[in-house]
Amino acid sequence: MPSNKNRRDRIVLISGAGTGIGEALAQRFAREGYVVAGMGRNIARLNALKGRIHRDKGIFIPLQCDVRRESDVRSAVRKISRLGTMEILVNNAGVTYFKELVSTTANEFDHVMDTNVKGMFLLTKAVLPSFLRRRRGLVINILSFAAKTVYTGSSIYSASKSAGSSMMGVLREEVRGKGIKILNVYPGAVATPMWGARNRARLEHRMIHPEEIAECIVGTAALPASMMVEEIALRPQRGDLKI
Ligand code: NAP
Repeated sequence: MPSNKNRRDRIVLISGAGTGIGEALAQRFAREGYVVAGMGRNIARLNALKGRIHRDKGIFIPLQCDVRRESDVRSAVRKISRLGTMEILVNNAGVTYFKELVSTTANEFDHVMDTNVKGMFLLTKAVLPSFLRRRRGLVINILSFAAKTVYTGSSIYSASKSAGSSMMGVLREEVRGKGIKILNVYPGAVATPMWGARNRARLEHRMIHPEEIAECIVGTAALPASMMVEEIALRPQRGDLKI
């Protein structure tokens, strides 16, 4: 494990770090010298990512955690707090079903809302007290351009991302002037496992790559403390992708 002592003071916590945008962010933040703590339900995937990041001389801490469960979230955050100071939280974990409202089940509704909205709430609530104590911290929320437009077949997902957007917009004002920044990111289609292998094979040339999203976010996180970037919309250059 790399031994640069200063790194222990720069922890970034990422939910859903094992794949897609979360994985790209983990690799990019690790290259910047952050200690990256990555959450997910699938610990094998997180351990594999740890191997790749450590081979590149970065530091990655895998945390098995279901963001829908408050006990999981609180114990993961406690564990990380013992290792150093968390500077950045990335609320990235998310799920969707590409289905019309009429055929969406109540269980699918709960799954999307519990992961995308309640998970974001639980994780932010667990991290916020330490940010407020230090009067410093950045919360990055991976929302979706679905919160700003109409993608058919994504009603519950869109509702969850709109809810996250509103929740975090309110939080931004509640913590304004207390040294804490809230950045809402609204990506369009990104080539990740969320789309399924078939859609990706067919449509990847119209999608943004997760590494490009990570590049933009990590660059924004490095901007001076006095300035708050509040929202970023990142859409495919050729326009929105609808399936
Ligand atoms: P992805 O590869 O499917 O990543 C989703 C991640 O969330 C997975 O690593 C998954 O890990 C984790 N996750 C799901 N449920 C979880 C839970 N209950 N607890 C903890 N972790 C959980 O898809 P992605 O595209 O990178 O998605 C990342 C974020 O970007 C999501 O919020 C998504 O809505 C958003 N987004 C994606 C796109 C796109 O086009 N791909 C566009 C706009 C926004 P485990 O299965 O191991 O738990």
